[in-house]
Amino acid sequence: MRAIQVKQAGGSFELVEIPTPTPGSGQVLIKVIACGICGGDEVCRSGMFPGMTYPRIPGHEAVGVITALGDQVSAAWVVGQRVGVGWHAGRCDNSEACEHCRRGNFFVCTKATGTGLTLHGGLAEYMVADQTALVAIPDTLDSIQAAGLLCAGLTVFNAIRLSNIRPGDTLAVAGIGGLGHLALQFGRKFGYRVVAISSSSAKRSDCLNKFGAHIFIDTTTEDVPARLAELRPKLTLGTSVNAKSITDLTPTWPSNAQLLIPV
Ligand SMILES: [Zn+2]
Ligand SMILES: [Zn+2]
Repeated sequence: MRAIQVKQAGGSFELVEIPTPTPGSGQVLIKVIACGICGGDEVCRSGMFPGMTYPRIPGHEAVGVITALGDQVSAAWVVGQRVGVGWHAGRCDNSEACEHCRRGNFFVCTKATGTGLTLHGGLAEYMVADQTALVAIPDTLDSIQAAGLLCAGLTVFNAIRLSNIRPGDTLAVAGIGGLGHLALQFGRKFGYRVVAISSSSAKRSDCLNKFGAHIFIDTTTEDVPARLAELRPKLTLGTSVNAKSITDLTPTWPSNAQLLIPV
């Protein structure tokens, strides 16, 4: 199969031809239909994650079809089924589960693996994934659209879901890229007053007309702290990693406002 591979920490993304993998116990083989490219793939390339080994295939926003099953795969997963794999590559799946898995906090599983970090990712024609890492993809959801939800979408969706914001409150989203443009759409559907904050005036039209923002703040021409003090968002998501832009988002109004940096 063809795959994008990083041969060593600090290396580059290379197109290679390697044998198609075989699923082991509890794993499935997936023919990849779509895989997003994320800033997190840079972690795979640079080797900044502890315990990484190479060569490694990046890609943690993968959607595809199951083409083979390993031993001991649950009847919930069948050949021909469309599934997705995100950053989280698996967790305890037995009677000796770690304390976190027993409590349902799978994301901090002590045996957790990372797609494209400790296991190969989806920037390849085929990938093997642990059954505990799979999500079923609804028939009505396009594979390319679904792929981006598995990291960028999940990141902002959970930031909103786990915050204290309620319908009718104001949500501000700073940085309208992969994460931000999804956060605006989730926010509109959740029933918030949605504020988009961007340094790119070219994004104004898409934010207001396509992604559902009610208000657009252009950071190059407007005083962001003053505008936010006036709009008083209950939740602000800072999705661009930039010291000044994050500082500008820090709430100055007396309330229980939250600032989350979901990266
Ligand atoms: Zn990612
Ligand atoms: Zn565990």
